[in-house]
Amino acid sequence: MRTSTEDLDLFHIARRQFDRAVPFVHPLEGWRGMAEMLFKTERTIKLTLPVVLDDGFVHNFEGYRVLHNNVRGPGKGGIRFHPDVDENEIKALATWMTWKCALTDIPFGGAKGGVACDPKTLSEPEKRRITRRFIAALGDDLGPHTDIPAPDLYTDSQTMAWVYDTYSMMHPGQNNLPVVTGKPLDLGGSVGRETATAQGMFYVFEHLVSTGVLQSLEGLAGLTVAIQGFGNVGRNAARIFNKAGARIIAVSDSQGGIHDPEGLDLAQVELQKDETGSVIETPGTKPLDHREVLEVPCDVLVPAALQTQITTANATQIEAKVVVEAANGPITPEADDILGDRGIPVVPDILSAAGGVVVSYFEWVQNLANEQWTEAEVQDRLRTTMLRAADAMVTNRAELVDRLGDYQEAWTKVQPDAPPLPHPTLRTAAHVFAVRRCRRAMEQRGIWP
Ligand code: GLU
Repeated sequence: MRTSTEDLDLFHIARRQFDRAVPFVHPLEGWRGMAEMLFKTERTIKLTLPVVLDDGFVHNFEGYRVLHNNVRGPGKGGIRFHPDVDENEIKALATWMTWKCALTDIPFGGAKGGVACDPKTLSEPEKRRITRRFIAALGDDLGPHTDIPAPDLYTDSQTMAWVYDTYSMMHPGQNNLPVVTGKPLDLGGSVGRETATAQGMFYVFEHLVSTGVLQSLEGLAGLTVAIQGFGNVGRNAARIFNKAGARIIAVSDSQGGIHDPEGLDLAQVELQKDETGSVIETPGTKPLDHREVLEVPCDVLVPAALQTQITTANATQIEAKVVVEAANGPITPEADDILGDRGIPVVPDILSAAGGVVVSYFEWVQNLANEQWTEAEVQDRLRTTMLRAADAMVTNRAELVDRLGDYQEAWTKVQPDAPPLPHPTLRTAAHVFAVRRCRRAMEQRGIWP
């Protein structure tokens, strides 16, 4: 197996991305304190969650909830259940939520939570008890105007129903629906939330193709697409691309991948997933491993699984014309550089994976007003929000490229020994736009006291 020698700690990766944005977040006077304030996490809650599992014994799980920044509104972000969850992972994911909400201009800050557990080995009642214990322990650190969770890896609308119920049992006599998003439709959920991340990614992708930003692609019909991950996001992305006339040629899940250069029969793949729990061994397909799916020659590669999937170890092997991130943090900064040098554009997660939180915001608004929007209304607003953010990123990138010399000169004045600024990527432009917006909000509010 190829190995990567770079630092794969997710919070360090978030920092390296942020550091690439800082020289463009002018004015630079006093930049250090401001940059630290914008990057540092405001609050990290670390809990031990004792839970009785079905074996009748107490098992202790680590739970985390991080509020990165709430200058633009209450914390917002999912809760994940995964064996690898740790503090720095949750801090990084909370940081990216701040940038996502700022870029898409929804009035939330960034937060994230997670429990280190293996959801694949847990029964439904065990997951329910872990969720309830976690939410009860967080107490008033969550709230409709404080910090609002949502689904993430291996949590879903059922998990969110338990989150709602637990919070509601502790806060009777008030409208608690806006305390959590991604709820079931019967319990204040929004239409379109389930598919929102994949749909938002697709709206952005379609727009960037039609406006010529992704120059190597001419249209949608007949595009070949490889998708890593077949959970909520990957599966919906496959359906949406397929419906638009693209050909899905490879998909994978945690057990492995499948490939058919002629195009997979998606109905058959979904049937296989539903019946066996994995896409592997779908009849008529060639097996791949989970990572090989990233290296399949294709027009569009969609990483929709875990973080740090494209690193220095495999970035030179990527054979896609374009990479569109649907997971959070799938590409390391060093791999970004390699893809950039190879002329492979990357549509960054804080834009292309932001559809979920955008529809979460719609759900929150509906809950506050006790309304139910129609599918058409949700889609129209999601599309408008995603396109506005995509345009902001593209316009901002053009400005950064045009004025690179000015930025370089100003940066050299405050950091004489710094290496030359790299050519601004779409990711850097998206980060700069988001960080500037948070900075302005901070300055307008003023630093307390
Ligand atoms: N977990 C999703 C994300 O990473 C959604 C968060 C939300 O809806 O608050 O963006």
